[in-house]
Amino acid sequence: MDAHEIKAAVAHQDATRALTEAPFVNLADPARALGPDGKLAVSRRAPIWEDVPDAQWNDWRWQLSHRVNDLDEIEKILELTDEERAGLSAPGKFRVDITPYFISLIDPKDPSDPIRRQVIPLGREQQAFTAMMEDSLAEDRHSPVPGLVHRYPDRVLMLVTTQCASYCRYCTRSRIVGDPTQNFNRREHEAQLEYLRRTPQVRDVLISGGDGLTLAPKLFESILRGLREIPHIEIIRIGSRVPVFLPQRIDDELCEVLEKYHPLWINLHFNHPNEITPEVSRAVDKLAKAGLPIGNQSVLLAGVNDCVHIQRALVHKLVANRIRPYYLYQCDLVEGSGHFRTPVGKGLEIMEGLRGHTSGYAVPTYVIDAPGGGGKIPVMPNYLISYSDHKVVLRNYEGYITTYEEPPSYQAHDKTSCAYCQHERPEPGKTCVLGLLEGERMWIEPQDFRETHARGNIEAHRLQDPSKWVPFGVGAIEGSSGGTLRVLEAGAEPPEYGPGEEPRPREGEPTGSAHGELL
Ligand SMILES: *Cc1c(COP(=O)(O)O)cnc(C)c1O
Ligand code: SF4
Repeated sequence: MDAHEIKAAVAHQDATRALTEAPFVNLADPARALGPDGKLAVSRRAPIWEDVPDAQWNDWRWQLSHRVNDLDEIEKILELTDEERAGLSAPGKFRVDITPYFISLIDPKDPSDPIRRQVIPLGREQQAFTAMMEDSLAEDRHSPVPGLVHRYPDRVLMLVTTQCASYCRYCTRSRIVGDPTQNFNRREHEAQLEYLRRTPQVRDVLISGGDGLTLAPKLFESILRGLREIPHIEIIRIGSRVPVFLPQRIDDELCEVLEKYHPLWINLHFNHPNEITPEVSRAVDKLAKAGLPIGNQSVLLAGVNDCVHIQRALVHKLVANRIRPYYLYQCDLVEGSGHFRTPVGKGLEIMEGLRGHTSGYAVPTYVIDAPGGGGKIPVMPNYLISYSDHKVVLRNYEGYITTYEEPPSYQAHDKTSCAYCQHERPEPGKTCVLGLLEGERMWIEPQDFRETHARGNIEAHRLQDPSKWVPFGVGAIEGSSGGTLRVLEAGAEPPEYGPGEEPRPREGEPTGSAHGELL
Protein backbone atom coordinates (compact mmCIF):
# COMPACT_ATOMS: atom_id res chain seq x y z
CA MET A 1 0.00 0.00 0.00
CA ASP A 2 1.37 3.37 -0.85
CA ALA A 3 0.68 6.50 1.16
CA HIS A 4 -2.10 7.44 -1.23
CA GLU A 5 -3.96 4.16 -0.77
CA ILE A 6 -3.60 4.27 3.02
CA LYS A 7 -5.02 7.78 3.07
CA ALA A 8 -7.96 6.68 0.93
CA ALA A 9 -8.63 3.63 3.17
CA VAL A 10 -8.60 5.77 6.33
CA ALA A 11 -10.94 8.30 4.75
CA HIS A 12 -13.29 5.49 3.80
CA GLN A 13 -13.21 4.08 7.35
CA ASP A 14 -13.96 7.48 8.85
CA ALA A 15 -16.85 7.98 6.48
CA THR A 16 -18.29 4.57 7.38
CA ARG A 17 -17.99 5.31 11.08
CA ALA A 18 -19.61 8.74 10.69
CA LEU A 19 -22.43 7.06 8.85
CA THR A 20 -23.16 4.47 11.54
CA GLU A 21 -22.78 6.95 14.40
CA ALA A 22 -25.00 9.64 12.91
CA PRO A 23 -28.62 9.39 14.08
CA PHE A 24 -30.62 7.66 11.39
CA VAL A 25 -33.28 9.79 9.78
CA ASN A 26 -35.94 7.75 8.04
CA LEU A 27 -36.94 9.87 5.10
CA ALA A 28 -39.36 7.24 3.83
CA ASP A 29 -41.70 7.48 6.81
CA PRO A 30 -44.56 9.81 5.82
CA ALA A 31 -45.33 10.47 9.50
CA ARG A 32 -41.98 12.26 9.78
CA ALA A 33 -42.15 14.27 6.57
CA LEU A 34 -40.60 17.70 6.94
CA GLY A 35 -41.74 20.91 5.31
CA PRO A 36 -39.50 23.40 3.48
CA ASP A 37 -38.81 25.15 6.82
CA GLY A 38 -37.30 21.96 8.30
CA LYS A 39 -40.21 21.52 10.73
CA LEU A 40 -42.88 18.83 10.50
CA ALA A 41 -44.76 19.24 7.23
CA VAL A 42 -48.20 20.84 7.37
CA SER A 43 -50.85 21.10 4.69
CA ARG A 44 -52.26 24.23 3.16
CA ARG A 45 -54.50 26.53 5.17
CA ALA A 46 -57.10 28.71 3.42
CA PRO A 47 -56.18 32.41 3.68
CA ILE A 48 -59.18 33.29 5.89
CA TRP A 49 -57.64 31.22 8.69
CA GLU A 50 -54.07 32.35 8.19
CA ASP A 51 -53.99 34.24 11.50
CA VAL A 52 -55.47 31.49 13.66
CA PRO A 53 -52.78 30.44 16.19
CA ASP A 54 -51.45 26.93 15.62
CA ALA A 55 -52.61 25.81 19.05
CA GLN A 56 -56.21 26.51 18.02
CA TRP A 57 -55.89 25.20 14.49
CA ASN A 58 -54.53 21.92 15.84
CA ASP A 59 -57.26 21.61 18.46
CA TRP A 60 -59.99 19.26 17.26
CA ARG A 61 -62.62 21.06 19.31
CA TRP A 62 -61.75 24.34 17.58
CA GLN A 63 -61.96 22.60 14.19
CA LEU A 64 -65.38 21.14 14.98
CA SER A 65 -66.83 24.37 16.26
CA HIS A 66 -65.52 26.37 13.28
CA ARG A 67 -66.94 24.16 10.56
CA VAL A 68 -68.34 25.98 7.53
CA ASN A 69 -71.81 25.29 6.20
CA ASP A 70 -73.38 28.23 4.41
CA LEU A 71 -73.04 29.70 0.99
CA ASP A 72 -71.64 33.07 2.07
CA GLU A 73 -68.97 31.51 4.24
CA ILE A 74 -67.92 28.97 1.61
CA GLU A 75 -67.84 31.67 -1.04
CA LYS A 76 -65.05 33.34 0.95
CA ILE A 77 -62.94 30.19 0.62
CA LEU A 78 -63.74 28.79 -2.84
CA GLU A 79 -64.66 30.33 -6.18
CA LEU A 80 -68.08 28.70 -6.48
CA THR A 81 -69.78 27.73 -9.72
CA ASP A 82 -73.47 28.40 -10.39
CA GLU A 83 -74.23 24.71 -9.89
CA GLU A 84 -72.50 24.71 -6.52
CA ARG A 85 -74.44 27.81 -5.51
CA ALA A 86 -77.64 26.00 -6.52
CA GLY A 87 -76.58 22.97 -4.49
CA LEU A 88 -75.72 25.03 -1.44
CA SER A 89 -79.02 26.94 -1.58
CA ALA A 90 -81.29 23.93 -2.19
CA PRO A 91 -83.89 23.64 0.56
CA GLY A 92 -83.94 20.32 2.39
CA LYS A 93 -80.47 19.32 1.18
CA PHE A 94 -78.37 16.78 3.04
CA ARG A 95 -76.33 18.53 5.71
CA VAL A 96 -73.26 20.52 4.74
CA ASP A 97 -70.56 21.05 7.34
CA ILE A 98 -66.84 21.00 6.60
CA THR A 99 -63.89 21.34 8.96
CA PRO A 100 -61.56 24.30 8.22
CA TYR A 101 -58.71 21.80 7.88
CA PHE A 102 -60.50 19.74 5.20
CA ILE A 103 -61.94 22.58 3.09
CA SER A 104 -58.46 24.14 3.06
CA LEU A 105 -57.18 21.15 1.07
CA ILE A 106 -59.43 22.11 -1.86
CA ASP A 107 -58.00 24.05 -4.80
CA PRO A 108 -60.26 27.14 -4.64
CA LYS A 109 -60.14 27.62 -8.42
CA ASP A 110 -60.74 24.05 -9.58
CA PRO A 111 -64.41 23.04 -9.75
CA SER A 112 -63.45 19.42 -10.36
CA ASP A 113 -61.17 19.15 -7.32
CA PRO A 114 -61.74 15.61 -5.96
CA ILE A 115 -62.09 16.74 -2.34
CA ARG A 116 -64.48 19.49 -3.33
CA ARG A 117 -66.72 17.05 -5.20
CA GLN A 118 -67.09 14.96 -2.06
CA VAL A 119 -68.26 17.74 0.26
CA ILE A 120 -69.66 20.67 -1.79
CA PRO A 121 -73.16 19.88 -3.10
CA LEU A 122 -74.18 20.38 -6.73
CA GLY A 123 -77.71 21.30 -7.86
CA ARG A 124 -77.76 17.91 -9.61
CA GLU A 125 -77.69 16.18 -6.26
CA GLN A 126 -81.45 16.76 -5.97
CA GLN A 127 -82.22 14.68 -9.10
CA ALA A 128 -83.93 11.36 -8.53
CA PHE A 129 -82.81 8.31 -10.57
CA THR A 130 -84.30 4.89 -11.35
CA ALA A 131 -83.80 2.37 -8.57
CA MET A 132 -83.05 5.15 -6.07
CA MET A 133 -84.01 4.24 -2.51
CA GLU A 134 -83.98 6.04 0.81
CA ASP A 135 -82.61 3.08 2.74
CA SER A 136 -81.07 1.08 -0.10
CA LEU A 137 -79.45 -1.49 2.21
CA ALA A 138 -82.67 -2.02 4.20
CA GLU A 139 -80.83 -1.29 7.42
CA ASP A 140 -83.90 -0.17 9.29
CA ARG A 141 -85.63 -3.48 8.51
CA HIS A 142 -82.62 -5.39 9.87
CA SER A 143 -82.45 -3.50 13.17
CA PRO A 144 -83.72 -5.41 16.20
CA VAL A 145 -83.17 -2.28 18.29
CA PRO A 146 -82.68 1.26 16.97
CA GLY A 147 -79.24 1.72 15.44
CA LEU A 148 -78.14 -1.91 15.64
CA VAL A 149 -78.08 -3.62 12.25
CA HIS A 150 -77.91 -7.39 12.61
CA ARG A 151 -77.59 -8.67 9.06
CA TYR A 152 -74.82 -11.23 9.20
CA PRO A 153 -74.86 -14.24 11.52
CA ASP A 154 -71.83 -13.41 13.65
CA ARG A 155 -71.40 -9.64 13.50
CA VAL A 156 -73.36 -6.44 13.85
CA LEU A 157 -73.19 -2.83 12.82
CA MET A 158 -73.69 -0.54 15.80
CA LEU A 159 -74.69 3.02 14.95
CA VAL A 160 -73.77 5.12 17.97
CA THR A 161 -74.37 8.62 16.60
CA THR A 162 -75.70 10.36 13.49
CA GLN A 163 -73.03 13.06 13.65
CA CYS A 164 -69.88 13.21 11.51
CA ALA A 165 -66.91 15.58 11.39
CA SER A 166 -67.93 16.62 7.85
CA TYR A 167 -70.59 15.22 5.50
CA CYS A 168 -70.07 13.27 2.27
CA ARG A 169 -72.55 14.03 -0.44
CA TYR A 170 -72.96 10.36 -1.40
CA CYS A 171 -73.49 9.11 2.17
CA THR A 172 -75.30 5.76 2.30
CA ARG A 173 -77.04 6.76 5.51
CA SER A 174 -78.10 10.28 4.51
CA ARG A 175 -81.62 9.33 5.67
CA ILE A 176 -80.46 9.74 9.28
CA VAL A 177 -76.88 11.03 9.25
CA GLY A 178 -76.40 14.70 10.08
CA ASP A 179 -79.87 14.97 11.58
CA PRO A 180 -79.57 15.88 15.26
CA THR A 181 -83.24 14.99 15.87
CA GLN A 182 -82.53 11.37 14.89
CA ASN A 183 -79.46 11.00 17.06
CA PHE A 184 -78.68 8.00 19.24
CA ASN A 185 -78.00 8.68 22.90
CA ARG A 186 -77.22 6.75 26.05
CA ARG A 187 -80.66 5.15 26.12
CA GLU A 188 -80.20 3.66 22.65
CA HIS A 189 -76.63 2.61 23.46
CA GLU A 190 -77.89 0.75 26.52
CA ALA A 191 -80.60 -1.01 24.46
CA GLN A 192 -77.98 -1.97 21.85
CA LEU A 193 -75.66 -3.37 24.53
CA GLU A 194 -78.54 -5.26 26.12
CA TYR A 195 -79.36 -6.90 22.78
CA LEU A 196 -75.70 -7.89 22.39
CA ARG A 197 -75.53 -9.37 25.89
CA ARG A 198 -78.48 -11.59 24.97
CA THR A 199 -77.11 -12.56 21.55
CA PRO A 200 -74.10 -14.84 21.99
CA GLN A 201 -73.59 -15.55 18.29
CA VAL A 202 -72.26 -12.02 17.84
CA ARG A 203 -68.47 -12.08 17.99
CA ASP A 204 -67.66 -8.93 16.02
CA VAL A 205 -69.11 -5.44 16.53
CA LEU A 206 -68.57 -2.66 14.05
CA ILE A 207 -69.04 0.79 15.60
CA SER A 208 -70.14 3.32 13.02
CA GLY A 209 -72.78 5.99 12.51
CA GLY A 210 -72.33 8.76 11.75
CA ASP A 211 -68.92 8.66 13.26
CA GLY A 212 -68.30 7.36 16.77
CA LEU A 213 -65.08 9.35 17.08
CA THR A 214 -67.10 12.61 17.07
CA LEU A 215 -68.71 11.60 20.38
CA ALA A 216 -67.55 13.10 23.64
CA PRO A 217 -64.48 11.04 24.63
CA LYS A 218 -66.07 9.81 27.89
CA LEU A 219 -69.22 8.67 26.12
CA PHE A 220 -67.23 6.86 23.44
CA GLU A 221 -65.17 5.10 26.07
CA SER A 222 -68.28 4.00 27.93
CA ILE A 223 -69.47 2.27 24.74
CA LEU A 224 -66.13 0.47 24.27
CA ARG A 225 -66.22 -0.59 27.87
CA GLY A 226 -69.82 -1.78 27.65
CA LEU A 227 -68.85 -3.94 24.69
CA ARG A 228 -65.69 -5.30 26.30
CA GLU A 229 -67.69 -6.43 29.32
CA ILE A 230 -69.60 -8.84 27.07
CA PRO A 231 -67.53 -12.06 27.04
CA HIS A 232 -68.59 -13.40 23.63
CA ILE A 233 -67.51 -10.27 21.75
CA GLU A 234 -64.12 -11.07 20.27
CA ILE A 235 -63.30 -8.11 18.09
CA ILE A 236 -64.48 -4.52 18.05
CA ARG A 237 -64.04 -2.45 14.93
CA ILE A 238 -64.43 1.26 14.43
CA GLY A 239 -65.45 2.65 11.05
CA SER A 240 -64.44 6.31 11.00
CA ARG A 241 -63.77 9.21 8.70
CA VAL A 242 -62.56 11.42 11.54
CA PRO A 243 -58.86 10.83 10.72
CA VAL A 244 -59.64 12.13 7.20
CA PHE A 245 -61.72 15.19 8.09
CA LEU A 246 -60.19 15.93 11.47
CA PRO A 247 -56.83 14.20 12.00
CA GLN A 248 -56.28 16.50 15.01
CA ARG A 249 -58.77 14.31 16.88
CA ILE A 250 -56.32 11.39 16.97
CA ASP A 251 -54.40 12.61 19.97
CA ASP A 252 -52.44 10.75 22.63
CA GLU A 253 -55.36 10.85 25.01
CA LEU A 254 -57.64 9.08 22.55
CA CYS A 255 -54.97 6.48 21.71
CA GLU A 256 -54.49 5.71 25.40
CA VAL A 257 -58.22 5.03 25.66
CA LEU A 258 -58.29 2.86 22.55
CA GLU A 259 -55.35 0.76 23.69
CA LYS A 260 -57.30 -0.45 26.69
CA TYR A 261 -59.94 -2.18 24.62
CA HIS A 262 -57.98 -4.45 22.29
CA PRO A 263 -58.51 -6.42 20.09
CA LEU A 264 -59.63 -3.29 18.30
CA TRP A 265 -59.46 -2.70 14.55
CA ILE A 266 -60.19 0.47 12.61
CA ASN A 267 -61.31 1.11 9.05
CA LEU A 268 -60.86 4.58 7.58
CA HIS A 269 -62.37 6.03 4.44
CA PHE A 270 -60.05 7.69 1.92
CA ASN A 271 -61.16 8.12 -1.68
CA HIS A 272 -58.35 10.13 -3.21
CA PRO A 273 -54.59 10.52 -2.62
CA ASN A 274 -55.05 14.27 -1.91
CA GLU A 275 -56.76 13.33 1.35
CA ILE A 276 -53.59 11.74 2.74
CA THR A 277 -51.79 14.77 4.15
CA PRO A 278 -48.84 14.99 6.60
CA GLU A 279 -51.39 15.53 9.41
CA VAL A 280 -53.18 12.32 8.37
CA SER A 281 -49.90 10.39 8.22
CA ARG A 282 -49.10 11.42 11.79
CA ALA A 283 -52.61 10.56 13.02
CA VAL A 284 -52.46 7.14 11.37
CA ASP A 285 -49.00 6.56 12.83
CA LYS A 286 -50.44 7.14 16.31
CA LEU A 287 -53.22 4.63 15.66
CA ALA A 288 -50.72 2.08 14.39
CA LYS A 289 -48.51 2.62 17.44
CA ALA A 290 -51.57 2.11 19.64
CA GLY A 291 -51.75 -1.33 18.03
CA LEU A 292 -54.80 -0.97 15.83
CA PRO A 293 -54.64 -2.67 12.43
CA ILE A 294 -55.79 0.01 9.99
CA GLY A 295 -57.88 -0.61 6.90
CA ASN A 296 -59.47 1.59 4.27
CA GLN A 297 -62.82 1.52 2.55
CA SER A 298 -63.21 3.65 -0.58
CA VAL A 299 -66.31 4.39 -2.56
CA LEU A 300 -66.00 4.39 -6.34
CA LEU A 301 -67.18 7.87 -7.33
CA ALA A 302 -67.49 9.39 -10.80
CA GLY A 303 -65.45 12.57 -11.00
CA VAL A 304 -63.45 11.70 -7.88
CA ASN A 305 -61.63 8.39 -8.29
CA ASP A 306 -63.12 6.55 -11.30
CA CYS A 307 -59.67 6.15 -12.81
CA VAL A 308 -57.20 3.27 -12.59
CA HIS A 309 -54.26 5.62 -12.19
CA ILE A 310 -55.85 7.59 -9.34
CA GLN A 311 -56.78 4.35 -7.59
CA ARG A 312 -53.30 3.00 -7.99
CA ALA A 313 -51.78 6.20 -6.56
CA LEU A 314 -54.30 6.00 -3.69
CA VAL A 315 -53.55 2.41 -2.71
CA HIS A 316 -49.80 3.01 -2.91
CA LYS A 317 -50.08 6.00 -0.62
CA LEU A 318 -52.27 3.98 1.73
CA VAL A 319 -49.83 1.10 2.10
CA ALA A 320 -46.94 3.56 2.50
CA ASN A 321 -48.91 4.79 5.53
CA ARG A 322 -49.47 1.22 6.75
CA ILE A 323 -53.14 1.34 5.82
CA ARG A 324 -54.43 -1.83 4.14
CA PRO A 325 -57.02 -1.26 1.39
CA TYR A 326 -60.03 -3.35 2.51
CA TYR A 327 -63.03 -2.63 0.30
CA LEU A 328 -63.74 -0.65 -2.84
CA TYR A 329 -67.50 -0.07 -2.77
CA GLN A 330 -69.78 0.39 -5.72
CA CYS A 331 -71.77 3.59 -5.07
CA ASP A 332 -75.07 2.79 -3.36
CA LEU A 333 -78.46 3.51 -4.92
CA VAL A 334 -79.15 6.27 -2.47
CA GLU A 335 -80.63 9.75 -2.82
CA GLY A 336 -78.07 12.35 -3.79
CA SER A 337 -75.62 9.91 -5.34
CA GLY A 338 -76.99 9.78 -8.92
CA HIS A 339 -74.20 11.84 -10.47
CA PHE A 340 -71.50 9.87 -8.64
CA ARG A 341 -72.51 6.50 -10.04
CA THR A 342 -70.30 4.47 -12.37
CA PRO A 343 -70.99 1.25 -14.26
CA VAL A 344 -69.75 -1.94 -12.61
CA GLY A 345 -67.36 -2.38 -15.56
CA LYS A 346 -65.40 0.65 -14.30
CA GLY A 347 -64.79 -1.07 -10.97
CA LEU A 348 -63.73 -4.27 -12.71
CA GLU A 349 -61.35 -2.31 -14.92
CA ILE A 350 -59.79 -0.75 -11.82
CA MET A 351 -59.41 -4.13 -10.12
CA GLU A 352 -57.76 -5.51 -13.23
CA GLY A 353 -55.38 -2.57 -13.24
CA LEU A 354 -54.34 -3.34 -9.66
CA ARG A 355 -54.18 -7.13 -9.26
CA GLY A 356 -50.76 -8.36 -10.34
CA HIS A 357 -49.65 -4.89 -11.31
CA THR A 358 -48.98 -4.03 -7.70
CA SER A 359 -48.52 -5.64 -4.25
CA GLY A 360 -51.34 -7.86 -3.10
CA TYR A 361 -51.46 -5.74 0.05
CA ALA A 362 -52.50 -2.77 -2.06
CA VAL A 363 -55.49 -4.50 -3.67
CA PRO A 364 -58.91 -4.08 -2.02
CA THR A 365 -61.92 -6.32 -2.60
CA TYR A 366 -64.45 -4.71 -4.94
CA VAL A 367 -67.93 -5.10 -3.47
CA ILE A 368 -71.50 -4.10 -4.12
CA ASP A 369 -73.57 -3.67 -0.98
CA ALA A 370 -76.68 -5.60 -2.01
CA PRO A 371 -79.69 -3.41 -2.70
CA GLY A 372 -82.40 -4.68 -0.39
CA GLY A 373 -79.93 -5.69 2.32
CA GLY A 374 -78.18 -8.94 1.38
CA GLY A 375 -74.82 -7.67 2.59
CA LYS A 376 -71.61 -6.98 0.73
CA ILE A 377 -71.17 -9.03 -2.41
CA PRO A 378 -67.75 -9.30 -4.03
CA VAL A 379 -67.84 -8.58 -7.74
CA MET A 380 -66.27 -11.85 -8.88
CA PRO A 381 -67.26 -15.23 -10.31
CA ASN A 382 -69.63 -17.30 -8.14
CA TYR A 383 -71.21 -14.06 -6.90
CA LEU A 384 -71.61 -12.14 -10.16
CA ILE A 385 -74.24 -14.29 -11.84
CA SER A 386 -75.02 -12.30 -14.92
CA TYR A 387 -75.07 -8.84 -16.42
CA SER A 388 -76.51 -6.85 -19.27
CA ASP A 389 -75.97 -3.25 -20.30
CA HIS A 390 -78.29 -2.01 -17.57
CA LYS A 391 -78.34 -4.56 -14.77
CA VAL A 392 -76.02 -6.76 -12.78
CA VAL A 393 -77.34 -9.92 -11.12
CA LEU A 394 -75.58 -10.99 -7.95
CA ARG A 395 -75.93 -13.57 -5.22
CA ASN A 396 -74.79 -13.23 -1.65
CA TYR A 397 -73.19 -15.76 0.68
CA GLU A 398 -76.62 -17.16 1.61
CA GLY A 399 -77.92 -17.61 -1.92
CA TYR A 400 -80.00 -14.45 -1.80
CA ILE A 401 -80.21 -13.01 -5.32
CA THR A 402 -80.32 -9.31 -6.02
CA THR A 403 -79.82 -6.89 -8.88
CA TYR A 404 -77.86 -3.68 -9.14
CA GLU A 405 -79.22 -1.21 -11.67
CA GLU A 406 -76.42 0.38 -13.70
CA PRO A 407 -76.46 4.17 -14.12
CA PRO A 408 -78.38 5.20 -17.27
CA SER A 409 -75.61 7.58 -18.26
CA TYR A 410 -72.00 7.82 -17.30
CA GLN A 411 -69.39 10.27 -18.43
CA ALA A 412 -65.93 8.75 -18.01
CA HIS A 413 -63.40 11.25 -16.73
CA ASP A 414 -61.29 13.23 -19.17
CA LYS A 415 -57.95 11.47 -19.45
CA THR A 416 -56.30 14.41 -21.14
CA SER A 417 -56.87 16.63 -18.11
CA CYS A 418 -56.23 13.94 -15.47
CA ALA A 419 -52.76 14.41 -14.02
CA TYR A 420 -52.71 10.78 -12.91
CA CYS A 421 -53.42 9.52 -16.44
CA GLN A 422 -50.61 11.68 -17.79
CA HIS A 423 -48.17 10.05 -15.40
CA GLU A 424 -49.05 6.45 -16.04
CA ARG A 425 -46.19 4.02 -15.65
CA PRO A 426 -46.68 0.86 -17.66
CA GLU A 427 -44.40 -1.93 -16.60
CA PRO A 428 -41.19 -2.05 -18.64
CA GLY A 429 -41.38 -4.10 -21.79
CA LYS A 430 -45.03 -4.87 -21.31
CA THR A 431 -48.15 -3.47 -22.76
CA CYS A 432 -50.61 -2.91 -19.98
CA VAL A 433 -53.71 -5.14 -20.01
CA LEU A 434 -55.68 -1.93 -19.95
CA GLY A 435 -54.47 -1.29 -23.48
CA LEU A 436 -57.21 -3.61 -24.69
CA LEU A 437 -59.93 -2.04 -22.61
CA GLU A 438 -58.90 1.49 -23.37
CA GLY A 439 -57.30 1.45 -26.78
CA GLU A 440 -57.99 0.65 -30.40
CA ARG A 441 -56.13 -2.64 -30.44
CA MET A 442 -57.97 -5.94 -30.58
CA TRP A 443 -55.33 -8.28 -29.22
CA ILE A 444 -51.98 -8.21 -27.52
CA GLU A 445 -49.45 -11.00 -27.60
CA PRO A 446 -47.07 -11.38 -24.71
CA GLN A 447 -43.49 -10.55 -25.54
CA ASP A 448 -41.57 -13.46 -27.16
CA PHE A 449 -44.86 -15.17 -28.02
CA ARG A 450 -44.00 -15.02 -31.72
CA GLU A 451 -40.45 -16.25 -31.35
CA THR A 452 -41.50 -19.57 -29.86
CA HIS A 453 -44.63 -19.33 -31.99
CA ALA A 454 -48.28 -19.63 -31.21
CA ARG A 455 -48.60 -22.24 -28.49
CA GLY A 456 -44.87 -22.47 -28.90
CA ASN A 457 -44.26 -22.32 -25.19
CA ILE A 458 -46.21 -25.51 -24.76
CA GLU A 459 -44.28 -27.18 -27.57
CA ALA A 460 -40.99 -26.10 -26.09
CA HIS A 461 -42.08 -27.51 -22.78
CA ARG A 462 -42.98 -30.87 -24.26
CA LEU A 463 -39.69 -31.18 -26.02
CA GLN A 464 -37.90 -31.12 -22.71
CA ASP A 465 -39.53 -34.37 -21.60
CA PRO A 466 -42.00 -35.85 -24.12
CA SER A 467 -42.92 -38.71 -21.77
CA LYS A 468 -44.71 -36.25 -19.52
CA TRP A 469 -46.95 -35.17 -22.34
CA VAL A 470 -48.49 -38.45 -23.40
CA PRO A 471 -52.13 -37.54 -23.56
CA PHE A 472 -54.61 -39.43 -21.44
CA GLY A 473 -58.05 -38.99 -20.00
CA VAL A 474 -60.35 -36.57 -21.73
CA GLY A 475 -60.68 -37.35 -25.41
CA ALA A 476 -58.28 -40.33 -25.50
CA ILE A 477 -59.41 -42.78 -28.17
CA GLU A 478 -60.65 -46.02 -26.71
CA GLY A 479 -58.32 -48.93 -27.25
CA SER A 480 -55.40 -46.73 -28.20
CA SER A 481 -52.56 -46.15 -25.85
CA GLY A 482 -53.01 -42.50 -26.24
CA GLY A 483 -51.40 -42.07 -29.62
CA THR A 484 -48.06 -40.76 -30.60
CA LEU A 485 -46.95 -37.41 -29.57
CA ARG A 486 -46.03 -35.17 -32.41
CA VAL A 487 -42.61 -33.96 -31.60
CA LEU A 488 -41.47 -30.86 -33.40
CA GLU A 489 -38.02 -30.91 -34.77
CA ALA A 490 -35.97 -28.05 -33.54
CA GLY A 491 -36.29 -25.19 -35.97
CA ALA A 492 -39.31 -26.70 -37.77
CA GLU A 493 -41.98 -24.20 -38.72
CA PRO A 494 -45.32 -25.02 -37.18
CA PRO A 495 -48.30 -24.13 -39.36
CA GLU A 496 -49.23 -20.44 -39.45
CA TYR A 497 -52.61 -19.69 -37.99
CA GLY A 498 -54.04 -16.22 -37.86
CA PRO A 499 -55.83 -15.14 -34.70
CA GLY A 500 -59.02 -17.14 -34.33
CA GLU A 501 -58.11 -19.45 -37.25
CA GLU A 502 -56.73 -22.34 -35.30
CA PRO A 503 -58.63 -25.51 -36.19
CA ARG A 504 -61.16 -26.23 -33.50
CA PRO A 505 -61.49 -29.80 -32.27
CA ARG A 506 -64.74 -31.52 -33.13
CA GLU A 507 -66.90 -32.94 -30.42
CA GLY A 508 -65.19 -35.88 -28.73
CA GLU A 509 -61.82 -34.92 -30.10
CA PRO A 510 -59.05 -33.99 -27.75
CA THR A 511 -58.08 -30.37 -27.59
CA GLY A 512 -54.55 -29.79 -28.70
CA SER A 513 -53.52 -27.13 -26.30
CA ALA A 514 -54.70 -28.75 -23.10
CA HIS A 515 -53.92 -32.41 -23.61
CA GLY A 516 -51.40 -32.76 -26.36
CA GLU A 517 -52.26 -33.74 -29.92
CA LEU A 518 -53.26 -37.18 -31.15
CA LEU A 519 -52.32 -37.66 -34.72
C1 LIG B 1 -70.38 -3.86 6.44
C2 LIG B 1 -71.20 -4.45 7.44
C3 LIG B 1 -70.67 -5.39 8.33
C4 LIG B 1 -69.21 -5.85 8.27
O1 LIG B 1 -68.98 -6.56 7.10
P1 LIG B 1 -67.52 -7.19 6.79
O2 LIG B 1 -67.64 -7.73 5.41
O3 LIG B 1 -67.29 -8.23 7.82
O4 LIG B 1 -66.54 -6.07 6.90
C5 LIG B 1 -71.50 -5.93 9.27
N1 LIG B 1 -72.81 -5.57 9.33
C6 LIG B 1 -73.36 -4.70 8.48
C7 LIG B 1 -74.79 -4.38 8.58
C8 LIG B 1 -72.57 -4.09 7.50
O5 LIG B 1 -73.11 -3.21 6.66
S1 SF4 C 1 -68.35 10.09 7.15
FE1 SF4 C 1 -69.49 8.22 6.61
S2 SF4 C 1 -71.41 8.38 7.73
FE2 SF4 C 1 -70.48 10.43 7.74
S3 SF4 C 1 -71.34 11.48 5.96
FE3 SF4 C 1 -69.44 10.52 5.27
S4 SF4 C 1 -70.08 8.51 4.45
FE4 SF4 C 1 -71.77 9.29 5.74
